[in-house]
Amino acid sequence: MKPFEYLRARTTAEAVRASTARPGAVFLGGGTNLVDLMKLGVATPDLLIDVSGLPLDQVSDTPDGGLRIGATVRNSDLAAHHAVRSRYPALSQALLSGASGQLRNTATTGGNLLQRTRCPYFQDTSKPCNKRAPGTGCPAREGAHRDLAVLGHSADCVATQPSDMAVALAALDAVVQLRGPDGERSVPITEFHRLPGDTPERDTVIRPGELITEVLLPPGPDGAVSLYRKARDRASYAFALASVAAVATVRDGRIQHAALAFGGLAHRPWRARAAEEVLRGATATDETFTRAVDAELAAARPLRDNAFKVELARGLAVDALAALTAAA
Ligand SMILES: Cc1cc2nc3c(=O)[nH]c(=O)nc-3n(C[C@H](O)[C@H](O)[C@H](O)COP(=O)(O)OP(=O)(O)OC[C@H]3O[C@@H](n4cnc5c(N)ncnc54)[C@H](O)[C@@H]3O)c2cc1C
Ligand code: SF4
Repeated sequence: MKPFEYLRARTTAEAVRASTARPGAVFLGGGTNLVDLMKLGVATPDLLIDVSGLPLDQVSDTPDGGLRIGATVRNSDLAAHHAVRSRYPALSQALLSGASGQLRNTATTGGNLLQRTRCPYFQDTSKPCNKRAPGTGCPAREGAHRDLAVLGHSADCVATQPSDMAVALAALDAVVQLRGPDGERSVPITEFHRLPGDTPERDTVIRPGELITEVLLPPGPDGAVSLYRKARDRASYAFALASVAAVATVRDGRIQHAALAFGGLAHRPWRARAAEEVLRGATATDETFTRAVDAELAAARPLRDNAFKVELARGLAVDALAALTAAA
């Protein structure tokens, strides 16, 4: 591993200042992704600014009835929090479906959002990869891409965004709060992760020196129910082949509000706006769910070996919508 310096930040201002002063600096959350990438030689920071001890470790109610989640709240604590379990069950379920108990005890909210793709070429420095080394090519497009994107990919990158938590947050209309050298700003989670285009080295819209300070959850419509479903190769310790987060309200058999997001299919959590359009105001039947999900997945462009993910996502989403609206 390349030698690096270490700084334990005491305040967000100190963290941002230190990061802005050193282009080779990166923030360290729980380290469960970053340190692995450093061991592999994929990440080679000069300075680690440890933000895991910053006073951003609280989950609290907001005046409008939503929830404020600090960036250093551990994934286990967030999943177990009573307000998350009762008001945003999709978020708790998504967190618990990811990684392992030990990893969740260490992983932070900020780090989870910024974890990097699990594309095998990205993690192997002996291979070309546009995301790790821009301009070197994308061997996954013709190579091992069974687990990779079917939606929104580009000629330059077919990677997927791996966070389960981010998918639930996308369906729940969360907002990411950032603090950087130019002050604070808010970014809706659905606009936080990018599609790869011709600059796949950039996973998100975060700017140099910016720190995630918190994630805000709006209160959600009255009577809303939510859930998260995930399909993977093993029952635990495995990333999503496809996943879905859904939020709905139903009255007299009609869907009043619907929010749907897919995971494991694209370079960002995929908010399913076309499906939502079909669902809104429609009768909650299997026929409606299938029509809605098909309207979204019509945009899928599977690669040679991953068309099965489209079928998987379709089944997962239709089942999830049926279960959710039955519970609403
Ligand atoms: C074996 C294994 C299985 C896994 N399975 C899953 C899974 O099924 N689903 C899933 O979702 N995840 C899974 N994970 C990934 C895990 O969830 C992430 O590693 C973890 O959430 C990252 O959080 P962290 O705090 O450790 O981040 P770190 O590793 O510390 O950081 C990750 C990135 O975020 C940046 N960063 C950290 N905090 C901030 C901040 N506040 N502001 C700005 N930048 C910041 C770092 O600079 C780094 O670039 C798995 C990991 C492993 C090792
Ligand atoms: S899919 Fe993206 S991350 Fe994977 S090899 Fe291609 S450019 Fe690299």
